[in-house]
Amino acid sequence: MEMKKLEGQTAVVTGASSGIGQACAIALGMAGANVVVNYAGNPNGAIVAVDKIKAAGGRAMVVQADVSQKEQVDNMFAQAVEAFGTVDILVNNAGLQKDAAFIDMTLEQWNYVLAVNLTGQFLCAQAAVKEFIRRGMNGHSKALGKIICMSSVHELIPWAGHVNYAASKGGVMLMMKSLAQELGPMKIRVNSVAPGAIKTPINHMAWETPEAEERLLKLIPYKRVGVVDDIGNVTVWLASDESDYIHGATIFVDGGMTLYPGFEDNG
Ligand code: NAD
Repeated sequence: MEMKKLEGQTAVVTGASSGIGQACAIALGMAGANVVVNYAGNPNGAIVAVDKIKAAGGRAMVVQADVSQKEQVDNMFAQAVEAFGTVDILVNNAGLQKDAAFIDMTLEQWNYVLAVNLTGQFLCAQAAVKEFIRRGMNGHSKALGKIICMSSVHELIPWAGHVNYAASKGGVMLMMKSLAQELGPMKIRVNSVAPGAIKTPINHMAWETPEAEERLLKLIPYKRVGVVDDIGNVTVWLASDESDYIHGATIFVDGGMTLYPGFEDNG
């Protein structure tokens, strides 16, 4: 039988009870990885992902943790190591929006989004790197470990009414690049995936009616709203040795949303 791309490796996927994280967890499992499917509140979607991976002959488990809390993150990695021996891949996916006009935005809304979207990625990356170093090279991959940060087109595109979210993703961009610079010599590969508009619960208002979808398509030169598998497929590839020389890069998966679509009709 042909070896699966990620056979023998273990992935931790945060915020994997819905949307993009759930799709990444399932895709990594189908590629042969053992998967730690993290959820914060309701476990149902995480259990669905675990069941799918197990039904395909893979190994997976759910672990509850709020990524903004260091003890919970450390405990999640300890559970991963206990169950699967080590961690090889981190998909730093958990994220949320608390939107408000700037003048109305509360400090709580600002702090909450930064705590989950940016500090959460910092805490998980640090726990992952400690485990990569503890384990050392094991022959399963050319890299000591791989970190994939779920960013957004809003690491680049400013977003009125969402300054907390845009600031968090702008932060993820330079955190990812600084980590790549610092950890590259240790053979730890760090990259981001920046989704455009992907149909998930986070943005259902933007696509659930035909009128809303039509408005959204004006921002997408490729004229298709993304689906979660668009991100799952790229994430598996970024986690695999096929992309071994990609380091410190943001891969935009956005149907061209970052191509200044306002200029589509000659500006
Ligand atoms: P989603 O709301 O379906 O998923 C987000 C997940 O994060 C949920 O499962 C939620 O429970 C989890 N989460 C929230 N707070 C958490 C915490 N403190 N600890 C652990 N988990 C927590 O939305 P999604 O669209 O799948 O978003 C996933 C990631 O993709 C986010 O980082 C988001 O910013 C990014 N993203 C999404 C889009 C899009 O169009 N959907 C575009 C760009 C970027």
